[in-house]
Amino acid sequence: MIKETYDVVVVGAGPAGSVTARTASENGLDVLLIERNAEIGVPVKCAEGVSREIERYVEIDPRWICTKVKGISTYGPDGTAVTLSVEGADVAGYVLERRLFDKYLAQQAARAGAEVRVKTQAYGLVQEDSTVKGVYVRTPDDELRIRADVVVGADGVESRVGRWAGIDTRLPLSDVCTCAEFLMSDVDVDEHYLETFFGREIAPKGYLWIFPKGKRCANVGLGIGGDVSGEGHRARDYLRSFVNQRFPNGKVLAEIYGVVPLSGPLYETVANGLVLVGDAARHVQPITGGGILQAVQGGKIAGEVVAKAVKEQNVTKKRLREYEKRWKREFGRVLEVGLKAKNIVLNLNEQELTKFFQPLGGEIKLKEYSERAFLKTLIMKNPRILVSLVKTMF
Ligand SMILES: Cc1cc2nc3c(=O)[nH]c(=O)nc-3n(C[C@H](O)[C@H](O)[C@H](O)COP(=O)(O)OP(=O)(O)OC[C@H]3O[C@@H](n4cnc5c(N)ncnc54)[C@H](O)[C@@H]3O)c2cc1C
Repeated sequence: MIKETYDVVVVGAGPAGSVTARTASENGLDVLLIERNAEIGVPVKCAEGVSREIERYVEIDPRWICTKVKGISTYGPDGTAVTLSVEGADVAGYVLERRLFDKYLAQQAARAGAEVRVKTQAYGLVQEDSTVKGVYVRTPDDELRIRADVVVGADGVESRVGRWAGIDTRLPLSDVCTCAEFLMSDVDVDEHYLETFFGREIAPKGYLWIFPKGKRCANVGLGIGGDVSGEGHRARDYLRSFVNQRFPNGKVLAEIYGVVPLSGPLYETVANGLVLVGDAARHVQPITGGGILQAVQGGKIAGEVVAKAVKEQNVTKKRLREYEKRWKREFGRVLEVGLKAKNIVLNLNEQELTKFFQPLGGEIKLKEYSERAFLKTLIMKNPRILVSLVKTMF
């Protein structure tokens, strides 16, 4: 039985929601974690690539590691290749099994004491005196009003929780990437490297990825700018065309469609009695579209701050701003620089994009594989982007 009252209700059991629920539970709160789908981690809407930085936040379990990768090879429109790996390290990152990874994180939340419910969808917020006081949920049997000191919106890119609380979560088409991905078998891919391809012909205002998932198997997908998608030239059309050419004998085991927010973080991620985490807060790296790492980082911070605020019986927006301060300190700068770099790179025409890649061509060994190190290299190797960044900053 779901109770009538909790300290915290977390809406959405993706990585952001589960890590928030776990952390808040470990800090002594009574937590309910709800997921609208029947199975946590399904359907997978992800290429499942993540850098080794994840190890700082989640203990690696071989059950949800599909592939260990040495680095990433990126190709410009004219085929110029740049291969990034880490000095003296065999592993730079992982391709996960999100079906298992997401379940593992939810299990950890449950082990820490959180109540976890699937097939339970939030459809509104209980609000009194401009403060969130709980959530309305629909289960297969019932409609319930659940009171909570804090509601956490971890409801992904389609987030509605923030909007219900009056936060502007709108995303113009130019700020999203629409994606199509096939899980493919019988494909010849480099098992040890992620691959990405840039070019207007391949993926306008986006890129294509091949992320290996074991022997002759891979996530092959691409994202294109939401504002350049249209009848006959949608993400799926570009992907079909690439796959027909590159993997004519490949078999498609699953088709996946999704959207990635590339807007940079929301201006406001807290309200009275409310916190937004993960994709719901637009905590996605705009230059890569990666959001797993920030979902986990932000979830941990949110869980800690919410626990303190509830214990102090002060869940005002002002008190919860500690969450904003801390995520900005931890990964705000990286997202900010990534947004500026994205705005430059995605607006280059084919010729400019080719010129952008040329100075990068060859092998680059990073000191560590982190988003910070990647962006630093991108900028330092390319005076053009450096100049543009300096111009946008001053
Ligand atoms: C095609 C594609 C490829 C990607 N590839 C990568 C990649 O390789 N690496 C990477 O780092 N990132 C990648 N991302 C981004 C990554 O998937 C997200 O950033 C990450 O999943 C964010 O986690 P989250 O917990 O915030 O949201 P999600 O994982 O989206 O979880 C949100 C959950 O909330 C649930 N929910 C929504 N509304 C409600 C409601 N009203 N009530 C209850 N539950 C609700 C949803 O069902 C969902 O389970 C990709 C995204 C896409 C679309």
